[in-house]
Amino acid sequence: MLIMAKSLLQQVMLKVEDKVASKPSFLDKEALIEKIQHGYIVNRVDKFQTKKTFAPSTIAFSHGECPRYWYLAFEGAVFTDNADAYGGANMTAGTKSHERIQEAMGNAGILKDSEFKVTYDDPPIFGYGDVILDWEGMDLLGEIKTMPNEGFEYRKIAGKPKTGHLIQLLIYMKILNRSKAILIYENKNNHELLIFPVELNEYYFKWVENAFEWMRNVRKAWEDKTLPEKNYRSNSKICKTCPIKDACNNAGSGVIKIKSLEPLDDKAL
Ligand code: SF4
Repeated sequence: MLIMAKSLLQQVMLKVEDKVASKPSFLDKEALIEKIQHGYIVNRVDKFQTKKTFAPSTIAFSHGECPRYWYLAFEGAVFTDNADAYGGANMTAGTKSHERIQEAMGNAGILKDSEFKVTYDDPPIFGYGDVILDWEGMDLLGEIKTMPNEGFEYRKIAGKPKTGHLIQLLIYMKILNRSKAILIYENKNNHELLIFPVELNEYYFKWVENAFEWMRNVRKAWEDKTLPEKNYRSNSKICKTCPIKDACNNAGSGVIKIKSLEPLDDKAL
């Protein structure tokens, strides 16, 4: 029944699209859409960058766990931006949503700070925290994340945050010396909110200590000019989306073995 309803809906949608596309008009609609889409990517160009610090938001995802990535990023490399127009729009929407949610928190009288710098010396880390809320006598550190309906509903059912988001928050919690913090999720489709309180436990504590030690080792490898070997096949998912895969391919095989950052165990959340 559900399948029948779906295919009926698809047929209706296709007919509507056909109608819209074939209707004569004074305007080249496709050309105008393409022009607007170009606006999302026109400033997203490949550029040579030298990273000075680890970024918690990068550590938490994909190539951020690769020691070779950080070595080459500290050395300097051309970073390729793979985002298409929709990817660019999505990222901008995320940034604007943060501003809107922070404004609502301000209007509600609970916002103490927002977009504040979070830094650490050894290992060198730099990032921006989203919010500090004044909540029931507590200075509550919070990270805001937006996601489409499917992901949001999945998080509700799972009853736990995405590990990447938690990793970022745990790094901030260590630097800012907090044992409690929150992840605030917003549904991109209907703006529904979901909050996960996070309390430092023994597992999180050990994981984050280990992550800081790993960053120190990777940084030392760069200071000693000892390039880490590749930990992945070049057709791996992680390498495919790595922004400096060309630099990596041209850098040689490497001289030391450093394990990738240990993932946070999803079952322990
Ligand atoms: S291409 Fe793969 S191995 Fe090379 S830096 Fe990127 S993630 Fe690491």
